[in-house]
Amino acid sequence: MHTYHKPLDLVRERSPERPVALVRQGTVAVAARWFQENFKGDVLYAVKANPSPWVIRTLVDNGVTGFDVASIPEIELVAEHAPGSRMAFMHPVKSRAAISAAYFDHGVRTFSFDTHEELEKILDATGQAKDLTLIVRMAVSAEGAAYSLSGKFGVESHQAPALMLAARRATQDLMGVSFHVGSQCMRPTAFQAAMAQTGRALVRAGVFADVIDVGGGFPSVYPGMIPPDMSDYIAAIDRGFNEMPVSETTELWCEPGRALVAESTSLLTRVELRKGDALYLNDGAYGSLFDAAHAKWPFPVKSYRGGADARELEGNLKPFQFYGPTCDSIDHMPGPFWLPEDVREGDFVEIGMLGAYGVAMSTRFNGFGAVETAAVDDDAPMASMFGLARRSIPVPRTAESTNVVRLSRPKGKAGQRKRKR
Ligand SMILES: *Cc1c(COP(=O)(O)O)cnc(C)c1O
Repeated sequence: MHTYHKPLDLVRERSPERPVALVRQGTVAVAARWFQENFKGDVLYAVKANPSPWVIRTLVDNGVTGFDVASIPEIELVAEHAPGSRMAFMHPVKSRAAISAAYFDHGVRTFSFDTHEELEKILDATGQAKDLTLIVRMAVSAEGAAYSLSGKFGVESHQAPALMLAARRATQDLMGVSFHVGSQCMRPTAFQAAMAQTGRALVRAGVFADVIDVGGGFPSVYPGMIPPDMSDYIAAIDRGFNEMPVSETTELWCEPGRALVAESTSLLTRVELRKGDALYLNDGAYGSLFDAAHAKWPFPVKSYRGGADARELEGNLKPFQFYGPTCDSIDHMPGPFWLPEDVREGDFVEIGMLGAYGVAMSTRFNGFGAVETAAVDDDAPMASMFGLARRSIPVPRTAESTNVVRLSRPKGKAGQRKRKR
């Protein structure tokens, strides 16, 4: 991977024909260490948020040795780049062949499920293995999250006790519970509420859980979506855990995806045409801008002019909308994206905060979507939950975005309740 100091250096050196993913390895290291130091339990990275090999290796180098995987290709990826790490197969619906391959070929012992049928499938496909860690996935409220992950998966509270009992009986090793409060969860108390709901189901089932897995949902910062400090989430989980019917040996796990990688990557795109306030870029909804198109997230942006006197563009900001390169009219990102009013064809637009569910989502539809990757070693992310951003997101004019980005500086010590298997 070629390394530049700053995006402007790349723009000055050459005019890339394709979009370039600009990766900041240091942000993943900082986020990983923050979770290691502050979360009082085991941290498993949800690979789907960004499966880049450099992400996996950086996490391992910074102490994250557990991975939440959902498919055999994800398992193979982790096995290749993080050999010896612990994997948890947390997709509640798996093929029998995938379960067998995970168990027999890759040493996976942790499986989640939300039905009796899937539990039976896991037992059959592992030859009635007794050394499984069986995790019951609960459906919980996704209030306060930008994306719900409960509509599709999770057992309802009234059916959970029977499934918990069945899991308890099926394994001689660990039985646990998990949930997902929804991605980009803006309310720390959502974790506490989900833990209370899970605790009530455990009491009704009359079983102790060996593992409480609070899932993902830890937020990042985007224009108009400025969450509380990350330490507030940790505090809510601590309170929730203390109120749960757990024993001395109960393990606490989390599965962050977004929070570990969102800040790590921006995308350098080129303006191929300007029509009024619409910029036609060489990346879009079928590339790395899925959330900008489908969830209409107004990502932070910067712009550059190439050539002999290459520079970052400044001046009066105006709201722009983007179109991507494909011929589909869904390929539209309404923004608003605030850029200098004289931005024109041939300029470069850098879109920030695309490290989670951005570069991971790219398709080759219509012949587009190929992205180069380069590292930038002296450029802060456009916003940060970990005190890394040098300035607030440059989106000045909407009601919410007049808030200053709240930086949560790493604080706190290694958890006292921390237990590692
Ligand atoms: C996607 C997913 C995660 C990660 O969610 P984030 O919102 O990115 O933190 C964690 N666990 C499971 C089971 C998931 O499906």
